[in-house]
Amino acid sequence: MNKADSDRLCSALDQLGLVPSPSRNDADIVVLNTCVVRQNAEDKAVGTLTSLKPSKESNPEKVIALMGCMVGPNAEPLERRFPFVDVFMRPQQYDPLINLLSERLGVDPEGCIGPLSAAPSVSTFIPIIHGCDKFCSFCIIPYRRGRETSREISEIVYESEMLAARGVKEVTLLGQNVDSYGHDLPGSVNLGNLLAAVNEVKGIERIRFLTSHPNDMDDSIIEAVANLEKVCEHINLPFQAGDDDILQSMRRGYTNLEYRKIIDKIRYKVPKVSLSTDLIVGFCGETEDQFKATLRMVSDIKFDKVHSAAYSTREGTIADRKMIDNVPEDIKKDRLKQINDEQERISAEINGRVLGERHEILVEGTKDGRWFGRNRNDKLVFFDSNTTSKGDLEVVKIEETSPWFLQGTLIQAGNGSPSEPTKSLTINTL
Ligand code: SF4
Repeated sequence: MNKADSDRLCSALDQLGLVPSPSRNDADIVVLNTCVVRQNAEDKAVGTLTSLKPSKESNPEKVIALMGCMVGPNAEPLERRFPFVDVFMRPQQYDPLINLLSERLGVDPEGCIGPLSAAPSVSTFIPIIHGCDKFCSFCIIPYRRGRETSREISEIVYESEMLAARGVKEVTLLGQNVDSYGHDLPGSVNLGNLLAAVNEVKGIERIRFLTSHPNDMDDSIIEAVANLEKVCEHINLPFQAGDDDILQSMRRGYTNLEYRKIIDKIRYKVPKVSLSTDLIVGFCGETEDQFKATLRMVSDIKFDKVHSAAYSTREGTIADRKMIDNVPEDIKKDRLKQINDEQERISAEINGRVLGERHEILVEGTKDGRWFGRNRNDKLVFFDSNTTSKGDLEVVKIEETSPWFLQGTLIQAGNGSPSEPTKSLTINTL
């Protein structure tokens, strides 16, 4: 989400005629877009911000802006702590900086903030719903990004068309809880309808969405992944904890069994789906047995990828106010290691199964002299080629696998169109 917000602000700065600077010390304007979802992210943001102070002192004209989740509804404490910062902006609130800069530059800020205009990459993000209404007890996001607000389908389709015209081939529809898209819009609009609408956009070859919530993962979304040609077979569905009491104290709103049933349904409807998840170890009061329930979920479900984190208290959350962070750090670290070791074994096993298969890769660029891109299941694939260009859809035969990426040989030179249809278009079920 922060990456999408930064892209949008870059686009607005581009409209004002500003150009990127190679170094933050030489730049006339520095914007620090912050994440505070975990303590170490916040510490890093504070460290970077503090390091900007000397350059502001030697050049008082320099503009320093602090943006993102670190800025709460009341910026006063931050203003006192960081007096050298010129502008404080909450997520997606770009106006204070744009207005200050347009005033200094003597230009009209009208129309600067809107759909992306700067040349984006082959694959880009489109925020479709801002904020979150869930208030999970560990999470700071609803306090910083506010309540859920969906963007109109027509606006998102228009943005997708503009991006396609600029060479974007893949869009990822973003939300803190993307599955609840549309509940606040007139009519009965949902993510399934939006996916069907973006599926019709000429030039967009692939569509993804991120991140889902088990309680809002309804049939229309699963049907869209199963039936819509451009919607990729990959779902990130956080489960956070395997124990029902922990799930309840996290205020997640589902049980272990309910989560497993959703996974069964997705796998039944989309047999080739790849699944990833998010989980937290060491949440307030988590016992060894409760942790083992989380580990069992990882072993049983066999996700393609697991994003794991050790719990850290976020000030102002329900867990901060009502619970005690009483799992020692070394135990949290050990639990994290157990999860990561188990997942590495599972990822190696799952990836090993695709050896010899042919996969369609959307080429994103080169790294260390090799082309790379992702298959529809969101797996990173490396290959060599003299004929490939960024944005091509290539067919690659997988010849080496590891838990983290795949490698293969180019089978079919890209022409910018999919090699073979992977699904039939039966969208009338939506
Ligand atoms: S659904 Fe996600 S973003 Fe919303 S409160 Fe829960 S963890 Fe945070």
